[in-house]
Amino acid sequence: MQRLILAGDHVVEDYSGRSRSNAAVVIENERVADIIPIEDARRVFPGDEIVGGPGHIVIPGLIDAHQHGRGVSNIQRGVADGPLEEWLVRLRGLWPMDTYLTTAVAALRLLRSGVTTAMHHFASTGVVPFEDELMASLQAYRDLGIRVTFTLDFRDRFSYVYADDDEFLATLPLDLFARIREKLPPRTASDPDRVMALLPVLERDWGGTRTKFALGPQGPEWSSDGALKQISEFAHSNNLPLHTHVLETRLQRESSIRHHGVSPITRLERLGLLGEQTSLAHMVWPSPDDLDRIRDSGTVIVHNPASNLRLKSGIAPVLEMLRRNIPVAVGMDGTSMSDQADFFQDLRLCEGLHFDRAGSIASDDIWHMVYRNGGKATFWGDAIGRLEKGSWGDAVVVKLSDDRLVEPIEQQTNILRRVLREGSPAMVHAVSVGGRIVMKDRRSTTIDDADLLDRVDAYARSADSADIKDRRKLVEQLEIAVRGFYSSWTTEAGPRAYNLISIQ
Ligand SMILES: [Zn+2]
Repeated sequence: MQRLILAGDHVVEDYSGRSRSNAAVVIENERVADIIPIEDARRVFPGDEIVGGPGHIVIPGLIDAHQHGRGVSNIQRGVADGPLEEWLVRLRGLWPMDTYLTTAVAALRLLRSGVTTAMHHFASTGVVPFEDELMASLQAYRDLGIRVTFTLDFRDRFSYVYADDDEFLATLPLDLFARIREKLPPRTASDPDRVMALLPVLERDWGGTRTKFALGPQGPEWSSDGALKQISEFAHSNNLPLHTHVLETRLQRESSIRHHGVSPITRLERLGLLGEQTSLAHMVWPSPDDLDRIRDSGTVIVHNPASNLRLKSGIAPVLEMLRRNIPVAVGMDGTSMSDQADFFQDLRLCEGLHFDRAGSIASDDIWHMVYRNGGKATFWGDAIGRLEKGSWGDAVVVKLSDDRLVEPIEQQTNILRRVLREGSPAMVHAVSVGGRIVMKDRRSTTIDDADLLDRVDAYARSADSADIKDRRKLVEQLEIAVRGFYSSWTTEAGPRAYNLISIQ
């Protein structure tokens, strides 16, 4: 039997900050078997190593409810932030990177930040076969030992803007049209049939106690009604969860109304895609009616505070969501305030962003969002985000700063408040996923992280820089064309329009 013992001055049991002093978590066969006094752990398991101990705190592993496995950052790959619709085009000028390597770096950074479960919203690049990319990502997560909910993406329309490709390309000058068609062709559609055929195979070969699968359309903008209907029926008949991007920008709201006459939320509802088995990333621009529908259906929202600022989308009305009792989780979207994926920093941002005359988000709300709602959003439920008998043994051993004597740590009623204020990857001492230590003192215990970074470097150096330079020139022209395309849309919905008050 595999056993792991983690101990500290405090062991936090759940999002409320409820904790036991001078305690040890005993994890057996991947799950929490018991929480007992440290002295008892030493006595009952005399030969076992105890990770942590005095001066440490054990908390449940953090849950990043939305990201894309982009560990080698876009900045490292030469692409700066910008308004989403322009940025998506700009991504076509990314310096090439191997899928396995970038996913492995993402997992490494997440673990360093104390994240033990990640929602991976897979977005195929179209550069290598879809299946190969999927397997490479899955292999990286398996090698790093992180828990993941892995979505299978598809999109069947709108490669450049929220309009048919031919319609958009026809607006370009002839010479640009020809070069775009040749060098930056429409993205190959990945169809629902392919996804549905692949899922049972992936479940068989890659599923297990640490990996879960979900359906992951890129977003309603990029999917026809026919494709979404097909996915909806498949999800219902196979009891499969679904995760997607919705209402990240105002242009997306505008696009849905132009193409379908309704908000994307009404559209998803009509297609049978709302419910407790659905989590929606972003939701920066919902109407009150959208939020009511989300609440009534039991759908979960994933808030990405840093990404929504970096990509100029705006600030999601999280207080309005919480007041309706909608479960809201938190994600980094691979675009956190720090490209080191410092989740603590994003959580502090989340706490600070949301306030009005009637109230604000408190640190206790943040942990509820991370743990309780993070479990819902990633479809692991209460089996993660807490340390109680029977839950998965996902935990982080942290060391707070040295000034802990100001108020004796034993007397502090909710130690999670201090973890929120002081947290950083530097204080993450050890990380357990399912009772296996996968990170210790910032080093992976499952792979050689120095070698991984060397491989990233070698891969990057092997790229053809002349070719990328040419491509980027073309991408710049495409960006200008995209900006021009949206200029005919209402100005308030333009890609640069952002408004802190999204409900009007
Ligand atoms: Zn995303």
